[in-house]
Amino acid sequence: MSAITGILSRFTFQSAVDILLVAAVFYALLRLFRGTAAVQLLRGILVLTFGVVLVTNMVELTAFRWLVSNSLNVVLVAIPVIFQPELRRALEKLGRTTPLFGRRASQAATEFLVSELIRTVDTLSQRKHGAIIILEGTTGLEEYIETGTRLDSTVSHELLLTIFFPNTALHDGAVIVRSDRILAAGCVLPLTQRQFADTQMGTRHRAAVGITEQNDALSIVVSEETGIISVSRHGRIVRRLDEKRLRKILQGFYEPRLQPQNER
Ligand code: ATP
Ligand code: MG
Repeated sequence: MSAITGILSRFTFQSAVDILLVAAVFYALLRLFRGTAAVQLLRGILVLTFGVVLVTNMVELTAFRWLVSNSLNVVLVAIPVIFQPELRRALEKLGRTTPLFGRRASQAATEFLVSELIRTVDTLSQRKHGAIIILEGTTGLEEYIETGTRLDSTVSHELLLTIFFPNTALHDGAVIVRSDRILAAGCVLPLTQRQFADTQMGTRHRAAVGITEQNDALSIVVSEETGIISVSRHGRIVRRLDEKRLRKILQGFYEPRLQPQNER
């Protein structure tokens, strides 16, 4: 009991801040790695460290302590190597929590982008030219961009129609858009494992759903067979969209990112 009161008497405002800071760092780390394999690793390391510290403090184990303190360096070098993709994605996420167009974003820029996308999808649907367009959310899609041909050009009706023109070099695969730039075309996306009752949902639609199962991207699909426009987000697909509903979905996708601008 006296030990506890001893600790409490030494507890100052500074120690409260100290503890909060450590807790905040762990919270931020866990949030950053949420949904990746690194979470299990982080949890494993925490449990292991706690166990080892407990054991080595309770019993005098000189050789074991030597082994633990020496292998710690090896582990610290191994973590970045093994979890390089997760770390890269987490850092990318950290750098991209700012709004989509940066703080200078204007409502007009989004409106132009949305109307350009709608106009394109509408024409593609009428012509029955198959297409798949991925709008990047806050999670970077670099690993999928690498599977296609890099473009980095402004989103435009004409360019998108040209990309998806049948039997051209870039028409196969997906276009990836970040803010108002077409980053790449001909990208290969992961297919969803889900089963669809609708037999019209082939690989293009499976890819559109697959990509949104792992991040907060939005995908727009135009069917080559039927001209039907669908949108997928968070692994769910909405089919048979008309212009009005599509506009609402796209505006909803971009709106939260404009808030910092509106607040000023
Ligand atoms: P549609 O209604 O347009 O026929 P679908 O869902 O029936 O679409 P498929 O007919 O299999 O699908 O469409 C094939 C096209 O989908 C390919 O030519 C390619 O452009 C695209 N596609 C297929 N798999 C992928 C993938 N993994 N990533 C990106 N695009 C893909
Ligand atoms: Mg098909």
